[in-house]
Amino acid sequence: MKTMTIKESIALMRQAENITFLTGAGVSTPSGIPDYRSLQGVYQGMTAPEYLLSHTALIQEPAKFYEFVQLLYHPDAKPNVIHQKMAAFEKRKPTRIVTQNIDGLHSKAGSQQLVEFHGSLYHCHCRKCRLPVSWQDYLISDVHENCGGQIRLEVVLYEEGFQEAVIENALQAVASADLIVIVGTTFQVHPFCDLINGKTQQKVLAINQTPLGHPLIDYFYQGAAEELFKQV
Ligand SMILES: [Zn+2]
Repeated sequence: MKTMTIKESIALMRQAENITFLTGAGVSTPSGIPDYRSLQGVYQGMTAPEYLLSHTALIQEPAKFYEFVQLLYHPDAKPNVIHQKMAAFEKRKPTRIVTQNIDGLHSKAGSQQLVEFHGSLYHCHCRKCRLPVSWQDYLISDVHENCGGQIRLEVVLYEEGFQEAVIENALQAVASADLIVIVGTTFQVHPFCDLINGKTQQKVLAINQTPLGHPLIDYFYQGAAEELFKQV
C-alpha cells in the first residue's frame, strides 16, 4: 500500500476513466451527521444500539425502536463539499457511488448513479398494507393513519438480510470502475467491505482519518476527506 499526498490522490481521480466511490460515515460528519459508531455519536451512553436497531426491537419493542430511530434523522443537514464534488464527477465521466450512509445526502447533492447499500431514512412504508409512507408522516407517528399498521424505515436492520438487487448493483458498480475510491470509512462492516474482494484490474484508493486494514487497498491518503475534496 502506497501512502499518497492530496495532489497524488486527486491526480489518480482525474486520470481515472470510470470511478466508483464507496462511502461511509466520515463523508457525512462534516454535514453535522454524528458518526454512529464513534463514541461521540448518538450511541454514546446508550446500551446495545445493535439491539435498538434490530428486527427484534422493531417487532417486540416498537416504542423503544421508534424513539431511537427518530434520533437518526437530520432532515436539515446539507450535502458538503465531498458530496458535491462526487456529484460533479458524474457530470464529467462515468461515476458511481455505493454508500453505507442512510442520510440521503448523496441523493440531495444530485448523484444519480447511487446505491444506498443500507437503505435510506427517507424511504418508509407500512408493514401492514405495504404502501409507501412519507418520512415526514413517519416522524409524526409510526402508526399508519390509513390502516393502523406499523410504519418502518427502509433501512437494513440488524438480523435482516440484504436485497439481492442491491448487492448486485453494488458489485456491478465495483466491477465497472477502473478506480475505486473508499472515503470516510474504516471499511470493516460486512458485507460492505467484501464488495472489492472480487476486484481484478481496478486500483483502490482509500481516503480516511485512520488507516484501513483491508489487504486489497493500493493507495492511502490519511486525513480529512473534506480537505482533499475542497481541492478537487
Ligand atoms: Zn398501512
